[in-house]
Amino acid sequence: MIEYENLAKVNQPFFDKFKRAFKDVLESGWYILGGEVQKFEKEFASYNNVRYCSGVASGLDALILSIQVLELEKGSEIIVPSNTYIATILAILKNGLIPVLVEPDIKTYNIDSLKIETFITSKTKAVLVVHLYGKPCEMDTILDICKRKKLYLIEDCAQAHGAEYKGRKVGGFGDFGAFSFYPTKNLGCLGDGGAITTNKSEYHDKIKMLRNYGSDKKYHNKYIGINSRLDEIQASFLNIKLKVLDHINQHKRTLAQLYLDNLKDDHILPLVHKDFFDVYHIFNIRHEKRDELKAYLLKNNIKTEIHYPVAPHKQKALSFLSDQSFPISEEIHKTTLSLPVSYFHTKDDILKVIEVLNKF
Ligand SMILES: *Cc1c(COP(=O)(O)O)cnc(C)c1O
Repeated sequence: MIEYENLAKVNQPFFDKFKRAFKDVLESGWYILGGEVQKFEKEFASYNNVRYCSGVASGLDALILSIQVLELEKGSEIIVPSNTYIATILAILKNGLIPVLVEPDIKTYNIDSLKIETFITSKTKAVLVVHLYGKPCEMDTILDICKRKKLYLIEDCAQAHGAEYKGRKVGGFGDFGAFSFYPTKNLGCLGDGGAITTNKSEYHDKIKMLRNYGSDKKYHNKYIGINSRLDEIQASFLNIKLKVLDHINQHKRTLAQLYLDNLKDDHILPLVHKDFFDVYHIFNIRHEKRDELKAYLLKNNIKTEIHYPVAPHKQKALSFLSDQSFPISEEIHKTTLSLPVSYFHTKDDILKVIEVLNKF
């Protein structure tokens, strides 16, 4: 059986280091917002070529807090891709704001930068882009729009740690980069975790308060904050894994290249372009007979996933969007299939998947 994901196998190379890190944190007696978190924030900021980074409790919180910092007027609209994971849209709703969904480009699966402008109204205050599957968005066009229309820019980098657009890492293009360290992500911890990157010191100072009850000084509260702190334990694991993030990404890129070089034409492959340094959090193909293909692979002992089976505007929780039509998103949701591309997979695993796929 070729599994889609196996987190014990992904983390196995780090077990000894994790055990030592756990022992150190355990014996230190300091479990929340201490030296490990500070070290991680400094090193993750440096890795992403940004000035500041704040650890938070999850990727969703990273998005929620990024938006909260801006204190946007009630009724403000935020532009977001229509085919994203629901967390991106929830973060807008949790701030009491209005998500305006824009269709993706069918080739990149990322927000269609050429369509954004037609959705801008007097209420639009920000664009929230998602570097989906580990491919960066078309940042030149997006930055230009945000500058001309005076819109804030937030990047959802939950699937794109280390991805680059024209040689620049994601997470530093906009006002904020929101990262998740959920265990399956390219940089994953052993529980929940997240981080917000920014180049503005006033944003950074405010995030550090908002994540800690809005407190600037112990028992003195400046904002209506929340409790969203990265644990010392998780930060200690992240400090170990951050050192090999480039290696993890490179491994996934090598596996992806095998698919790109060897899969036959009737599978629609992800776009490769010199502007994008993709990190393949997900390697997806598209196929007319997706469900049949998935069943066929399973019969041949190959597990796959679908990211995502239901488009956000078709979710019960977002029924207020159900009267809108997003044909491109729907086409993607109907035809996309995610192939094994994890850190623990070997080249032989992937060659086996290719062999089976090419016989379909
Ligand atoms: C995983 C993910 C999130 C949410 O991260 P959590 O840490 O699970 O809260 C947000 N956006 C996207 C695109 C994701 O893939």
